[in-house]
Amino acid sequence: MLEDTAVGSKGEVVYVADPKLLSCSDAIPAFRQRACLTHALITSYGLHHKMRVVPSEAANEEDIRKFHSQDYVEFLQKDVPEEDEDKDAQDEFGLGFDCPFLDNLWGLVCGLVGGSLTAARELTSGRSKIALNWCGGWHHAQRDMASGFCYVNDIVLAVLHLRSAFPKVLYIDLDVHHGDGVENAYLFSPKVVTLSLHQREIGFYPTTGAVEDIGLGKGKFYTLNVPYKEGINDTQFIYLFESILYPLCEVFMPDAVVCQCGADALSQDPLGGGNLTLKAYTTCVTHVTNLSKPTLFLGGGGYNKSNTAKLWTAITATVLKCPVSTEIPEHQFFHWYGPDFELEVTAGLQKSSNTQESLDQTIKAVHGNIQKLAESLEQK
Ligand SMILES: [Zn+2]
Repeated sequence: MLEDTAVGSKGEVVYVADPKLLSCSDAIPAFRQRACLTHALITSYGLHHKMRVVPSEAANEEDIRKFHSQDYVEFLQKDVPEEDEDKDAQDEFGLGFDCPFLDNLWGLVCGLVGGSLTAARELTSGRSKIALNWCGGWHHAQRDMASGFCYVNDIVLAVLHLRSAFPKVLYIDLDVHHGDGVENAYLFSPKVVTLSLHQREIGFYPTTGAVEDIGLGKGKFYTLNVPYKEGINDTQFIYLFESILYPLCEVFMPDAVVCQCGADALSQDPLGGGNLTLKAYTTCVTHVTNLSKPTLFLGGGGYNKSNTAKLWTAITATVLKCPVSTEIPEHQFFHWYGPDFELEVTAGLQKSSNTQESLDQTIKAVHGNIQKLAESLEQK
């Protein structure tokens, strides 16, 4: 079914975007304008002409209830609460501080989930082999609460939909923060492997994701965590990724892949602590596309907005196998990219707290976990 879409043809890659979806993502205070910046940069390079652009269809309550609890959904459907009113409820559902209650929150949530479900449907229908949704990737949202700027977990719901056509799904999380919401959702599942590479330091959000955390019950060995220390550079990140992705795929043999491309491990991210350039991500993305499985690429964190737009544009170009100029084209948001106006993110001078020895230790532990996964699969 998928073979008739020739490599490089316009039908192979689908890009989900429309003004409403962009505005849903941009309505979240920490990310204002980020989706519009990204979309404008992608179109300034003409990349939208090289892929199929499809508008998003908003999700409904039934879609969202497939993961989120009824109490939480009912709370999200309320109008903005009065000052102090429902304060306990807001605390209970994680609304406040980094996830403030917003106008038309339910509409936003339906829009955000709809973006990733639309993209996932393009894969399950066989219409596309690769789907992009830079307005998705809200990996911290839990079943019954908002967390870390994430109100709703579009990733869990997209994976759930993919499972209707693809028995085994591999979830890869490149965000600097641990993909805790997705991991928790699939902690007990042997059908979804979650692989999160993330910075892990004392007090660094969300603090979970130790290498020893490998899933529970029937899902034991189907969770993989690859923690690293702050200041990670391109060479180290690519080394970790390459050392783990291929042995894992040989064992698990996924039928589809979801890759969250949170941009906050980039150098200069105000909330990150990593020292990556675009190359670390685009190299990992190339490895993921080399698996030749139906793949959904999503956004995620990224608090330096122009660098985030650069990254997702660079990944779009990589997926399309369409090299783009390092000079940012003149467009509506051109002034955001001064003073150099280059499609580059340069590494900082910060020294990495990771050493060859610490990386090799982590890889050894993860290889041990993959071995246990292999043994568990053999027993089936
Ligand atoms: Zn993050």
